[in-house]
Amino acid sequence: MTRPPVRECSRCDKPMDPAYRPFCSKRCADIDLQKWLTGSYAIPGSETDDESEGEGGDDR
Ligand SMILES: [Zn+2]
Repeated sequence: MTRPPVRECSRCDKPMDPAYRPFCSKRCADIDLQKWLTGSYAIPGSETDDESEGEGGDDR
């Protein structure tokens, strides 16, 4: 293990550019950002709206 701790792009494994970390370029940063904006990271919005799983209704 003599390799220096070079960080790699989270998307394409190229050497990371500090200006666009943790990505190698604006391109990769944009792609990742798009994933966030479009919800591809699976952020359940309406699913977790009601925390009561029991579905008790008028239990309170
Ligand atoms: Zn990249």
